[in-house]
Amino acid sequence: MRAEIISIGTEILQGEIVDTNTAYLSRKLALLGIELDRHTTVGDNPARLVSALEEALSRSDIVLTTGGLGPTVDDITLYAIGSVTSKPLVVNNDIAKLVTRYFKNRGLVKMPQEALRQAQIPRGARWFKNNVGIAPAILVYYGRKPVIALPGPPRELIPIFEEKIIPYLREKSIAGKQTIKTKTIKVTGLLEAEVNRIVKDLFSAGTGTALGIYARLGEVDLKITSKAGNEKAHHSQIRKIEREIRRRLTNHVYGADSDTLEQALGTLLRKKKKTLAVAESCTGGLIANRITNVSGSSAYFKMGAVCYSNEAKACLLGVSREKIKKHGAVSKEIAYDMAKGVKSLSKAHIGAAVTGIAGPAGGTKKKPVGLVYIAIAGNKITMVKKYRFAGSREDIKQLASTATLNLIRATI
Ligand code: ATP
Ligand code: MG
Repeated sequence: MRAEIISIGTEILQGEIVDTNTAYLSRKLALLGIELDRHTTVGDNPARLVSALEEALSRSDIVLTTGGLGPTVDDITLYAIGSVTSKPLVVNNDIAKLVTRYFKNRGLVKMPQEALRQAQIPRGARWFKNNVGIAPAILVYYGRKPVIALPGPPRELIPIFEEKIIPYLREKSIAGKQTIKTKTIKVTGLLEAEVNRIVKDLFSAGTGTALGIYARLGEVDLKITSKAGNEKAHHSQIRKIEREIRRRLTNHVYGADSDTLEQALGTLLRKKKKTLAVAESCTGGLIANRITNVSGSSAYFKMGAVCYSNEAKACLLGVSREKIKKHGAVSKEIAYDMAKGVKSLSKAHIGAAVTGIAGPAGGTKKKPVGLVYIAIAGNKITMVKKYRFAGSREDIKQLASTATLNLIRATI
């Protein structure tokens, strides 16, 4: 079964609204095991919509449209579908009643006559009630090929698709016997190219799974997609490849799906019964913010100190002023002393510190923008690492915070 989606609306074509309906429907169709071939967007133009529908129907077995089902003159979808399928628009009395009742129930003075346009549907069409808005979803056959028209507002489209269209697709065996399941393995501390090198033979491992690699800021996602006929088969296919990924990437894997690095760190700190404090310069509190985004973080997070000036580093963390003068605030010596300082100030088991140049100004030849030192002071291990990040000021702050969370994780 091959499908296409046509989204309808001049405001989508012109980029004024983002086509989230197509993204949503695409994800759903994949899960239903329906292969999607193409996305098309057309404006509110009847002739162009007619030709888009004709083209889509010449290629595919099923076509879904979104938008243009309302009562206004720019709502042209049913007119175009009627014209392509040679089914003239006729008033459907049941829908007309629903429309009239909709206005009555809301105590609206008088129903505008145009509202009844929504009750005109191609002859012989099946319709599905819209429990949120007025315009129903419409199903028309072109030969044996279903054309399904869905309303534009996502708050109407999503429930009608889930409650009415999915059961229809299942009932008619348009949905595949096999379903799709995905699991995303979350990786940090390695570049996309390095991850790729380590797992690249798994991309074509076959046996019902496919692997995708997606770089995010400071992280890499490995997405396992499984195609199978039942839950048990999904489970065993995914587990097999996940095991292999985890074996090869060791503790660069911090979690899966919606897990965050700060959650993973929190879980580890709890398990090891360790407490943490951080001293931040260039990240300006971002690390403390991320750590405290995790509910229950008070169990292990003692304090965060944003020590931006040299004076704050000296007064609060006890970093020697002479040392700052000698090495500069962005140096491995100062990062190290900041970490030790915040550890002793907070009496936490682990002190972590970051100092660096987030840019875009302030870089020099010896200390360029993106140079960051991260230090960890624990009871047994103390370490400083030097990083060179690239990107905007926000990117560098984010990258430095991710690297710090990961370095703490690695040392525990
Ligand atoms: P209405 O009865 O509200 O007019 P409709 O089915 O005619 O519904 P449109 O007029 O095409 O739908 O769009 C109405 C609104 O729905 C748009 O202004 C936009 O906010 C939202 N919308 C439409 N299409 C999409 C889409 N593809 N993705 C996200 N939102 C959309
Ligand atoms: Mg409309």
